[in-house]
Amino acid sequence: MIRLFAFLGIGALCALAGQESAETLAKQLFGAKAEASRQKPAVYGSYSKGCAAGSVQLPETGPTWQAMRLSRNRNWGHPHTIEFIEKLSAFAAKQPGWKGLYIGDISQPRGGPMLSGHRSHQIGLDIDVWMLPASRVNLSRQKRENISSISLRRSNGAYVNDNWSRAHHRIIKQAAKDRRVARIFVFPGAKVQMCNDEKGNRKYLRKIRPWWGHHYHFHVRLACPKGNRNCVNQSPPPKGDGCDEAREWVNNILNPGQAKKPDPNAKKTKPKPKTRREYVLADLPQQCVSVLQSP
Ligand SMILES: [Zn+2]
Repeated sequence: MIRLFAFLGIGALCALAGQESAETLAKQLFGAKAEASRQKPAVYGSYSKGCAAGSVQLPETGPTWQAMRLSRNRNWGHPHTIEFIEKLSAFAAKQPGWKGLYIGDISQPRGGPMLSGHRSHQIGLDIDVWMLPASRVNLSRQKRENISSISLRRSNGAYVNDNWSRAHHRIIKQAAKDRRVARIFVFPGAKVQMCNDEKGNRKYLRKIRPWWGHHYHFHVRLACPKGNRNCVNQSPPPKGDGCDEAREWVNNILNPGQAKKPDPNAKKTKPKPKTRREYVLADLPQQCVSVLQSP
């Protein structure tokens, strides 16, 4: 026992007295919280290493949206995030065949690392939006556990498939045009399709970033809300519409042998989760201790 205490370090133990040991993984601490902290909304840290105070729960069903997979309890975010979803889903509901949006993961009630799934989504500013058109917004809780989204990709993400529609283009475009949005992640074929189809102002395309996966949902990342000095923005996307870069991703998918930089097929180039140490509370911004301890 004495040896164990020496190993953990007395200081760290005191900080967490009566709670968990300093060795407890942050994902277990944050994953155990069922409610937001009763604090003013605030974001601490970065998308992949942080937490959120005073988060708001996206109502599980709204006039133009439904939150999916409610058992995960990840429909919590910054008030900006909730407002954004309300607004974008109202836009989506005007598209033919759409009654609104199905919303996947946002964040846990107090943000932080998750027990399963994403590495980001830690500060209530990341939103997964299903590609499946929300043809109705009265699905039961049970149905929302079981139904799946649809994939929009063909040829490993080099192209869109027949499920892609102009409505997807318009909804993703509308999201990108929102001033709160910093970037949107979607599979390379979708970005190139949007590049090819866009005949108007191309400025918004800069925010649409080709990425691995992201063919069952697109991922919206909001910028740090004003006044959140402890929230860390990602550096902005490269200048320009990014269409050439997206075409390079596609080229790498189609010709994996010649792949240079980001090759979506080259699993080996992706950092292996095993080599990445999992965060303990002390790895996160110090404010996350009070976010966790707050009622
Ligand atoms: Zn996501």
